Amino acid sequence: MVTQSKDPVCGMKVDPSKTQYKADHQGQQYTFCSQQCLNKFKQNPSQYSSKQQS
Ligand SMILES: [Zn+2]
Repeated sequence: MVTQSKDPVCGMKVDPSKTQYKADHQGQQYTFCSQQCLNKFKQNPSQYSSKQQS
């Protein structure tokens, strides 16, 4: 079973072993499908890193 991460910016599934776009925020690693999504995340990490709350 392949572990997949979700790109928090656009919602795409990303394979952490294949993507080169990664960022760490508050001890958690995030992966992104593209440089564009990574840039968006870096501009405002807290907007994307907050966990879903119901
Ligand atoms: Zn993306």
